[in-house]
Amino acid sequence: MSQIKRVLVTGGAGFLGSHLCERLVAEKHDVICVDNFFTSQKTNVSHLLNRPNFELIRHDITHPLWLEVDEIYNLACPAAPGHYQYNPIKTMKTSVMGAINLLGMAKRCRAKILQASTSEVYGDPEIHPQTESYRGSVNPIGIRACYDEGKRAAETLFMDYHRHNKVNVRIVRIFNTYGPGMHPFDGRVVSNFIRQALHGEDITVFGAGDQTRSFCYRDDLVEGMIRMMNGPDEFVGPVNIGNPGEFTILELAKMVIEQTGSKSKIIYKDLPADDPTRRRPDITLAKAKLGWEPKMPLTEGLKRTIEWFKNVKLDEFRAPTPNY
Ligand code: NAD
Ligand code: UDP
Repeated sequence: MSQIKRVLVTGGAGFLGSHLCERLVAEKHDVICVDNFFTSQKTNVSHLLNRPNFELIRHDITHPLWLEVDEIYNLACPAAPGHYQYNPIKTMKTSVMGAINLLGMAKRCRAKILQASTSEVYGDPEIHPQTESYRGSVNPIGIRACYDEGKRAAETLFMDYHRHNKVNVRIVRIFNTYGPGMHPFDGRVVSNFIRQALHGEDITVFGAGDQTRSFCYRDDLVEGMIRMMNGPDEFVGPVNIGNPGEFTILELAKMVIEQTGSKSKIIYKDLPADDPTRRRPDITLAKAKLGWEPKMPLTEGLKRTIEWFKNVKLDEFRAPTPNY
């Protein structure tokens, strides 16, 4: 029997989504990419447009959509703080109404559906590293809440559709991921530091730079997500997917300066409200259930990302919002 599946990727033109589409197209699946291009652009997937097993639909997932598919990866949502805070109500709608629309489609088609959740469900964590059983410490009325609480509500919807309607779901909690293909005006720390270093601009460290993050390379992340989709139906997650290597933001800034050989200076700016002080995934569950762990060390991943950024023409990218 053919192993070819009809796979919908929402947010498929974005940083992670476009790489996921590349993988699925290469595996010969019938891939439908849905995106409203809020934080991405068509050029991210233009190399796939002439492939017979790839289709691109401009659509906003807060509105219903009628398709026949076997699997859904739900990645549509702005992911960088500056961009998701630009229109916070829309961000919450994308997570909640998008989940309802896509879970309805999964229920009707009996499709498997995976939610790209986030380490942000842990908020500013009191336990370290974060395990999936930790329920988090999110400020429900803060500036990050539109994203954090939207993603938490989406997880709730996924589990309720699973329990009440027997929808075949998967939830992955993604920790900070970087790599070639990031939007240069995305505003996240890795893309900002590399863009600034390569263009001789000041490197903007927020706060004292002693907050930590754990950075996962794009390919490792996408591999984990695919393994979760293809894993046993009994294992719905949530499962942490991330790289446990933990670095301060100041360490990251120094690594980028060293690797680019840049003359840029580090400058310090105010720390945004509710910025988590530390973040590191416990990946015991992913290792045990999916046989997955990241392979790419930060030094090598940064090298590849820097090489990619050297060829990026900034004037070919539209900044999604002024917040980068
Ligand atoms: P991204 O911003 O590059 O991609 C998101 C995509 O979703 C973009 O192409 C955007 O245009 C699209 N989109 C946004 N709102 C939409 C809507 N209403 N309808 C249709 N499309 C819409 O971000 P990314 O890093 O590729 O993240 C992909 C997913 O993974 C997101 O759901 C994000 O929350 C999650 N995630 C990413 C990270 C990370 O570090 N990259 C960490 C945790 C979670
Ligand atoms: N950050 C920074 N300078 C920047 C962008 C981000 O110091 O130009 C910091 C930010 O305050 C946070 C960390 O880097 O502590 C990671 O930020 P990012 O926006 O990449 O993702 P987050 O994990 O906060 O969602």
